[in-house]
Amino acid sequence: MAARQRYRFRAPSTGREVIIEAQPGHTYRDRETGETLEPVGKLVPLAPSASDLPWAVENLRHCPHCGQMAQKDLNDCPTCGRRLDPIGVVVGG
Ligand SMILES: [Zn+2]
Repeated sequence: MAARQRYRFRAPSTGREVIIEAQPGHTYRDRETGETLEPVGKLVPLAPSASDLPWAVENLRHCPHCGQMAQKDLNDCPTCGRRLDPIGVVVGG
């Protein structure tokens, strides 16, 4: 089972960046120019993860149970496995 890992690639002539679920040993080409894309970096989260959100501060919150960081779109804490409270819900009012 190959784990999904997304990489950021850049076309040298245009500077256009694309995100590709790349596999080791493959060469990827720009669809428009046909040139070989240069790998720029690896995207987080590292596979495997239940979340597609990157580990950027704006996408993270602290688990109320263990205090570790968890992505906002996760229902369960990846560290302690306990249920996370729903976000964006205004209580009362
Ligand atoms: Zn937790």
